[in-house]
Amino acid sequence: MRQSDQEPIRFTKEFTRQEAIPEAGIRRAIEVMQSGRLHRYNTAAGETAEVALLEAEYAAYVGARYCVGISSCGSALYIALKSVGVKPGDRVLCNAFTLAPVPGAIENAGAVPVFVEIDADYLTDLADLQRKAEASKAQFLLLSHMRGHIVDMERVTAICQRLGITLIEDCAHTVGARWGDTFTGRFGKVGCYSCQSYKHMNAGEGGLLVTDDEDVIAKAILYSGSYMLYERHLSRPDLAVFEQHKKRIPNFSLRMSNLVAAMLRPQLADLDNQCQRWNRRHDLLAEALSDAPHIRIPHRPAKEGYVGSSFQFSLVGVDLAAVERFLKICSERGVEIKWFGSREPVGFTSSWESWQYIEGVQPLPNTRKILDFMCDFRIPLTFSLEDCRAIAAVIRQVAAEVFD
Ligand SMILES: *Cc1c(COP(=O)(O)O)cnc(C)c1O
Repeated sequence: MRQSDQEPIRFTKEFTRQEAIPEAGIRRAIEVMQSGRLHRYNTAAGETAEVALLEAEYAAYVGARYCVGISSCGSALYIALKSVGVKPGDRVLCNAFTLAPVPGAIENAGAVPVFVEIDADYLTDLADLQRKAEASKAQFLLLSHMRGHIVDMERVTAICQRLGITLIEDCAHTVGARWGDTFTGRFGKVGCYSCQSYKHMNAGEGGLLVTDDEDVIAKAILYSGSYMLYERHLSRPDLAVFEQHKKRIPNFSLRMSNLVAAMLRPQLADLDNQCQRWNRRHDLLAEALSDAPHIRIPHRPAKEGYVGSSFQFSLVGVDLAAVERFLKICSERGVEIKWFGSREPVGFTSSWESWQYIEGVQPLPNTRKILDFMCDFRIPLTFSLEDCRAIAAVIRQVAAEVFD
């Protein structure tokens, strides 16, 4: 019997259902609420704020000298750009496959994105990066490890060094992930991480910014909205460093609250374990789909210590109409696939052509072709390994029906 003659397999769980906040995080959050001290600078004598503790713990986790908590990763990217000296009108290189808050942060800083193509494995095309860097003379690169895919960071840093480019890493989706032995966010001058619900530590909203540079962290702390209370940070340089910046840096009021930090601290303690749980699910899906006709799983470099909290694959040897049919039937059977091929932005998903506040849509033919055939979905940890097997079975069955 042909696969397409079989009963349709259906999947019924929600792709948007995250796990509960760990008990310890809930307990601590309730204590913070009972104390009434939710603002990070509302500390009793001798008390250290939850946010200050989280910053010190996160800096230690990734091996950075300094960390500051921010209201979101998008805001952290904005503060990072300002703190490394991006000025209105500056060009900022950026891989075109990224999330809307990334060009948003560049726009917020008054700068202009110069988009770089991606390759068939969804990684930044480093030849195009060099071309665009040389043509635009941009002095900044905001590199997004989009959907957790990490490009060769030795090659990126070599290009940046050679061309005098300051690197900022958008690690929204790579909390806990490494290239070689080094955490993402530690190759550039600044690394920014997200604590939004769909990333690797969930506080609803939240961002973390790390750097080894004492001027950059002093500026970032001041931009975040420290008033003249920066002394209360554990993760900070000597107070003298703030002296030269404190009257020159505006307060953007983008702080993290103690409630957020209270939820995050136990999640950080358990992060490596959670990353392994994601990878078991991701690797099962990759294995189950590896020999499926018309499906290509991206190649992942040996040095990439990824965290597979989402899954991407490309459809090959099919046309766009067939892609749309495939997506529609998958969705009818409960497998909600996101598609960057859509010409209209939908939900969280949009592509560079729809960011029309940027002057002139930059032509990126390779990226367009790759995104047209790329499928994408989250792997929430509320899915069991059995659930992942079921998702792969739906995808294989629909592909056989539509493409054969
Ligand atoms: C989620 C995400 C962001 C933005 O993070 P927020 O914390 O929601 O502001 C930026 N870049 C990428 C790649 C993301 O996935």
